[in-house]
Amino acid sequence: MPVTTSHRTESAAAAAAADTARPDDVPERPPADPGAPPADFGALRRQDPEIADLVLAETARQAAGIQLVAAENFTSPAVLAVLGSPLANKYAEGYPGARHHGGCELVDMTERLAAERAAALFGAEHANVQPHSGSAAVLAAYAALLRPGDTVLAMALPQGGHLTHGSRANFSGRWFDFIGYGTDPATGLIDYAQVRDLARAHRPKAIVCGSISHPRHPDYAAFREIADETGACLIADAAHPMGLIAGGAAPSPVPYADVVCATTHKVLRGPRGGLLLCGAGLAERIDRAVFPFSQGGAQMHTVAAKAVAFGEAATDAFRSYAHQVVANARVLAGGLARQGLEVTTGGTDTHLVTADVAGLRLDGRTARGRCAAAGLVLDTCALPHRPPPPAPTTGIRLGTAAVTTQGMREPEMERIAELLGAALRGRPGGREAAAELAGAFPPYPGVGPSGQ
Ligand SMILES: *Cc1c(COP(=O)(O)O)cnc(C)c1O
Repeated sequence: MPVTTSHRTESAAAAAAADTARPDDVPERPPADPGAPPADFGALRRQDPEIADLVLAETARQAAGIQLVAAENFTSPAVLAVLGSPLANKYAEGYPGARHHGGCELVDMTERLAAERAAALFGAEHANVQPHSGSAAVLAAYAALLRPGDTVLAMALPQGGHLTHGSRANFSGRWFDFIGYGTDPATGLIDYAQVRDLARAHRPKAIVCGSISHPRHPDYAAFREIADETGACLIADAAHPMGLIAGGAAPSPVPYADVVCATTHKVLRGPRGGLLLCGAGLAERIDRAVFPFSQGGAQMHTVAAKAVAFGEAATDAFRSYAHQVVANARVLAGGLARQGLEVTTGGTDTHLVTADVAGLRLDGRTARGRCAAAGLVLDTCALPHRPPPPAPTTGIRLGTAAVTTQGMREPEMERIAELLGAALRGRPGGREAAAELAGAFPPYPGVGPSGQ
């Protein structure tokens, strides 16, 4: 697929007009070095010790425990610097060259760079870097392709679908008619025969592939084939694996999906935010679905931080990171199985491990509490194909993105599996052991507990 590197060429037609209408606005060169940026943690401590203390305590909490929440990561000091920069002050409704506000010349350059880097990194024709979150990206994808009342086929929530895949508590379940597909009870893998049957029976306008807990790669080619056969669009919600895709450690949905939705803060390790990729033919519809349809001004500090993260993700170091994330998850999955947990699908191809703790006579919530008490932070998750309550319907979900950023490798994953096994059995002393392990791999080396 050709890589068009300019966001501008794909954007609203008004862009070119606005470019020529206000030539004086375009600075010849960036302004001179204004000195150190004004983000100042010392000022926060003096002015608002209550919030400063909470920020410091949270910083310490993140460093003191083992962070296994699969959707989290430690973003780089460079990304954090941009997030705390005066770009946070800038209003920028619209797109580069076609803004509703003055003074956007420099943030225009920033957003163009972010979109160009995203498009190049993922081999997409068009990137929109403005969605405030992964959910906002999914909302915009639906807005671009669907009308209220349309039928959509997505992974059922108890099987691993996200809230935006048809939850009744979410806009998706209220405004669209969602049909849920699932996994094969014997293998735990996506049941493509069922996906095909449901698509034939319900003729959805769109099929969504992507999950919050499925630890294997979707077969994007199979989804594309089913979508083509039944006249549906294909939306890939790659919020979780996007960083693995960037690093070449997972297959890319870009050649198959009409629209790819993602977050930038999970394995991708950027700022909290969303991302949309599509072909040139959908570019204008996607852009309009983000602004003005579902969002106002873009958050330019976040857009700039996304650009930094895309730059980092294009490096060899990030490729090694992404592969290590998967290698670590495989070792963690093996270790958990030896601790008596039933690992979904018998292992993982990604950063995710989900497991049933019923073999230890626990449900997910109790397991999460025991682990938290031992300094091991993780999530519960729905488990498909469970007997009805009172049997436990939840298990635990872990991810290796954050601990891998800290520099942990296979031996540490073995150790974490042991610590988890001990914590789940209610053995004492776990917190000290977790703190010792975490202390050997500080997320921000050289940054003291003062947070400076
Ligand atoms: C995380 C996630 C989202 C939502 O991202 P937010 O930034 O929390 O809104 C959407 N879809 C999937 C599959 C996800 O994993």
